[in-house]
Amino acid sequence: MNILILGSGGREHALAWKIAASPLTDKLYCAPGNAGIAREAECVALDINDHAAVIAFARDRKIDLVVVGPEAPLCAGVVDDLEAAGIRAFGPGKWAARLEGSKGFTKDLCRAHNIPTAAYRRFKQAAPAKAYVREHGAPIVVKADGLAAGKGVVVADTIEEAEAAVDTMFGGGLGQPAWEIVIEDCLVGEEASFFALCDGETAIPLASAQDHKRVGDGDKGPNTGGMGAYSPAPVMTGEINRRVMDDIVLPTVRALKTIGAPYKGVLFAGLMITDSGPQLIEYNVRFGDPECQVLMLRLMSDLVPALIAARDGQLKNFDLRWHDESALTVVIASKGYPGAYGKGSEIRGLDDAARVEGVEIFHAGTKADDGRILANGGRVLNVCARGKSVAEAQARAYQAVDRIHWPEGFCRRDIGWRAVAREKGGS
Ligand code: AMP
Repeated sequence: MNILILGSGGREHALAWKIAASPLTDKLYCAPGNAGIAREAECVALDINDHAAVIAFARDRKIDLVVVGPEAPLCAGVVDDLEAAGIRAFGPGKWAARLEGSKGFTKDLCRAHNIPTAAYRRFKQAAPAKAYVREHGAPIVVKADGLAAGKGVVVADTIEEAEAAVDTMFGGGLGQPAWEIVIEDCLVGEEASFFALCDGETAIPLASAQDHKRVGDGDKGPNTGGMGAYSPAPVMTGEINRRVMDDIVLPTVRALKTIGAPYKGVLFAGLMITDSGPQLIEYNVRFGDPECQVLMLRLMSDLVPALIAARDGQLKNFDLRWHDESALTVVIASKGYPGAYGKGSEIRGLDDAARVEGVEIFHAGTKADDGRILANGGRVLNVCARGKSVAEAQARAYQAVDRIHWPEGFCRRDIGWRAVAREKGGS
């Protein structure tokens, strides 16, 4: 098969690495890709927001399957457009992608189908939203509707903070004024991510993961796209996994089918594991980044037939096999991230780092220049490792990190701390 991946981050490098290893893959392309992806696939300078250009390329190269990495093209309907042009594509269509694109849509769907999630109200104006905040009290969570690249959520400890968030969101503080906000109860517990593959009718579980969103050690400092992750998430016991499938994922897939927006693709459920069980915080309509990197390291089965089965509605009797080992990834980012950062500095020592046992390095934001690897983004590298425990994977990943010479970069030194502490405690 000829396969085209859309995207350019560490997630897409991990997907390219796994797809390139499939005996079903003849020719692999990635648009636009990066310097690491170029080792697995032919990178092509396509604008992935230009659906007509993607379709023309897919036709020209006789692409049998397009795999869409990021959420923006999914929410913009790239899968619908490709399928309408007769090109098979993996990922949800535009209507199903509202699960990520609209928080109000998802919350209403949960309420209508009894899917456990925080109690909430939707508001189109600031005054009633603030009145609700005052009546309800803090802590309380304020969310802007629509894609906000992780910036549209404020967990407010005080009423004043919540009121200020309402004003910021309606006032255009996030770039453009929110047309709607959701205010919801604050959930207490441990967060985890759960991934399932869906085919429009049914779903099969992939695996669980935990990520570290804050930029600094000890989970301090501003939020980022993710500074590291590990899988499996120890908090996700067999019983909790079953409840997530039965109470959250499967009812969602059934509900979307009923409204004529069947969900095909990866469903990423952000969860809070509370005393009363798992609650849905949010859905994403694609693999997490960097969670995808650790999932691909743990996946033993060929990924390509799984993607095709999801696209074709054939997951019912499908089975995936996983390595028992844990996997962990450390993100190395440009100094300054998630604020302003420089580009173009050289990274050395990558080959030496990749020789550490169990290690795989995925590129998140790099470009090649005359045989040299240069930084080309905020999050630049994902240093991943497998191990018998999270502690072993962590030790291997940091051993590799220490072989990389890139003074302009930084990483957290404590990725996986919660799981490692659990392992040490024997629970
Ligand atoms: P979201 O973009 O909806 O995933 O929210 C970003 C982060 O805000 C989540 O990862 C949580 O840490 C936090 N958050 C969102 N909603 C809630 C909630 N209802 N209760 C507590 N924390 C929340």
